Amino acid sequence: MSRALNHFVREENARLGAPSWRVLESPQGGRVRIDGGCKISLCSNNYLGLANHPVLKEAAIKAIEKYGVGTAAARSLSGSTPIHEELEEELADLKGAEAALVFNSGNAANGGVIPAVAVDGDAVFSDELNHGSIVDGCRLSRAEKKIYRHNDLAHLEERLAAGRGFRKRMIVTDTVFSMDGHIAQLPEIVALCEKYDAFLMVDEAHATGVLGAHGGGGVEHFGLDGKVDVLMGTLGKALGSVGGYIAGSNDLIAYLARVARTFLFTTSLPASCAAASLAAVRLLRKDSGIRQKLWDNVTFFKSGLTRLGFDTMGSQTPIVPILVGDDEIARRFAERLFRAGVYVSKIGPPYVPPKTSRLRTIITAAHREEDLKKTIDAFERVSRQLGLISSTPAARRTISHFKTRRNLRRAKSCIIQ
Ligand SMILES: *Cc1c(COP(=O)(O)O)cnc(C)c1O
Repeated sequence: MSRALNHFVREENARLGAPSWRVLESPQGGRVRIDGGCKISLCSNNYLGLANHPVLKEAAIKAIEKYGVGTAAARSLSGSTPIHEELEEELADLKGAEAALVFNSGNAANGGVIPAVAVDGDAVFSDELNHGSIVDGCRLSRAEKKIYRHNDLAHLEERLAAGRGFRKRMIVTDTVFSMDGHIAQLPEIVALCEKYDAFLMVDEAHATGVLGAHGGGGVEHFGLDGKVDVLMGTLGKALGSVGGYIAGSNDLIAYLARVARTFLFTTSLPASCAAASLAAVRLLRKDSGIRQKLWDNVTFFKSGLTRLGFDTMGSQTPIVPILVGDDEIARRFAERLFRAGVYVSKIGPPYVPPKTSRLRTIITAAHREEDLKKTIDAFERVSRQLGLISSTPAARRTISHFKTRRNLRRAKSCIIQ
């Protein structure tokens, strides 16, 4: 190994600390097996419990038997399968769009579409808390980047007003912010697009399958059909498998299929993944009971945490963060919960600003009420051991609450963009 490289990675590792993750001995689900023990898992994006659903598994197995395990090249070079084509039709339908194009991940979809639609002479207006893959897509684009404060439409408007000189203006936002569980104010953003002649791209990674009467996402939730030009989503969260997509007009999709580099320069998804996703979309549109179960679980869990005095940061979705503040305390909190049989993610820098570390729980339809109850009890026990909540009900509040809120406001602008 080169001495210069070795020196560089060692120094960086000393600064960053060792990477770590758990190794699962079971499929994803409300409960998982780790180190031979059963844990309640609240850290997957498996919103509808589809990652191990028998209907999806069967569809994937059949596709492997018919088409094998690999596609061997990009679709534009070695051909597609009927499953990929059908999946795109079904996704377009789900999103109320004319057409869709499947990418290998949501990350690849963002990395492909943003530089393709926002070009030299244009400006991209991006929420400061947008997902890292949107940030990277913006970096790949030759357009000017204009970051606006999180969900701050007055700031967005100010920036739009100053950006009239650009050829095109694009606003891009997550529909659901993955670290906080907030929903973007899409109707107001659409109105700003109309006022300032901008077009809108929304990232529905945490919204598809979760929001909207048929799981269509934020656009369906707010009744904004036809108002959003670029609809991005993932097949890896609520839809249970892996992949990403862009939905939009026929012209947009035809253009992306010619120019999006993350579509052209990569081997396409195996038919098995496309088949699992196709089965997922069909299941989701047919059976609203799964989504009902998800939201029942969310209500049950949030009310339990709120009763204990936890700050769930105004979450409006199944993503329920529990604000702790100090990163080391958050790490200890997660570690003790794990020992108590509850697996949650500690989220700290660089995912979120310093001093706003949190435990992020994600509630799914796969959770049983008894497990959510056990989780709430474990939260109460461990936070008492750590001195984070006092024992008198009237004074129940996370001790670090006020300080942490202040840190959160101050630290917003430290997000890496
Ligand atoms: C997860 C996520 C992505 C990336 O999707 P993958 O399919 O996992 O690559 C993009 N945007 C947001 C908001 C996400 O949460």
